[in-house]
Amino acid sequence: MLDHIPGDWAHTFTLRPKLLIADDQPVNVRALHALFKDDCDVFMATNGAQTIELCRKVLPDLILLDVVMDGMDGHEVCRRLKADPLTHTIPIIFVTAQTDEADEEYGLSLGAVDFITKPIKPAIVRARVRAHLSLKMQGDVLRSIALVDGLTGVGNRRKFEEDLDSSWRHCLRESAPLSLVMVDVDYFKRYNDRYGHQAGDRCLQTVAKRLTETLRRPYDTVGRYGGEEFACLLPNTPLDAATRIALKMEEGVRALRLEHVDSGCAETVTISAGVATLIPTTEARSAELVESADRQLYEAKHAGRGRVASAMRMIEG
Ligand code: GH3
Ligand code: MG
Ligand code: MG
Repeated sequence: MLDHIPGDWAHTFTLRPKLLIADDQPVNVRALHALFKDDCDVFMATNGAQTIELCRKVLPDLILLDVVMDGMDGHEVCRRLKADPLTHTIPIIFVTAQTDEADEEYGLSLGAVDFITKPIKPAIVRARVRAHLSLKMQGDVLRSIALVDGLTGVGNRRKFEEDLDSSWRHCLRESAPLSLVMVDVDYFKRYNDRYGHQAGDRCLQTVAKRLTETLRRPYDTVGRYGGEEFACLLPNTPLDAATRIALKMEEGVRALRLEHVDSGCAETVTISAGVATLIPTTEARSAELVESADRQLYEAKHAGRGRVASAMRMIEG
């Protein structure tokens, strides 16, 4: 059936694209599945609620969404997915038997990227899906580049803000503790003054790598908060465990034995770290966690640097 489609286009993607097909008629789902199963990881849903649930779980690269479905229709599904920060960047193509101009305009106004009319024409569907997947993947690559710190390769400040937002929401849903470790390299101005800015840059790269190596869980992240400051987010982690991680970071950087003769607290490069933990509530703001970790970092600095300070603050829901 697909012989007349030129090129093995799925190979233009480094990862196999994930395609979600939502239609309440199994026969339509089967037809679309057959069309894409060789090139994509295909997920299928047969009603609106299931579509939203599956979408949040697998985060597909593209959704083929039937407009007319029993219960929640495609328009409402689209509206909800576009309102959710987790799913709002996922492109949606409406698949519909209606070819009315006003319907099409309405669908596009909800944020859909394209329309496909039933009965589907395989070559057209494949071409459209291919074009939109390509755009989506390009967008993902650009986005990931925009979130990496050029010097150290860890996430940049923007990435940290995104991670903070998503970890906050995750821990809010689960009533789980979210911990933050703020790290600052000690006497780093003097390091630059003594060894030069380029050596300073290399030092930051080495420190960032060591901080990253300390983390064990997939959702733990290290980001460059700015200058010689790093921020480590630890979802589902209580204060005692987060403090242990911070201590490992402090020891880990010390163990690098990077010479720093002008340091006021050691002969080698050291870090100070402040740890804070919060169980998110709808009333609390994530900025409070940052402020709290910052205060602890200040305490660690004030107490002599090359150490960890930590505090727990619980806000009842
Ligand atoms: P403290 O122990 O109180 O943290 O003292 P400090 O000297 O580390 O702190 P301060 O904020 O006075 O100086 C930070 C220095 O970090 C100054 C700045 O030039 C340096 N810095 C910030 N970003 C970079 C960078 O990307 N590369 C290099 N080489 N240095 C940087
Ligand atoms: Mg510093
Ligand atoms: Mg600083």
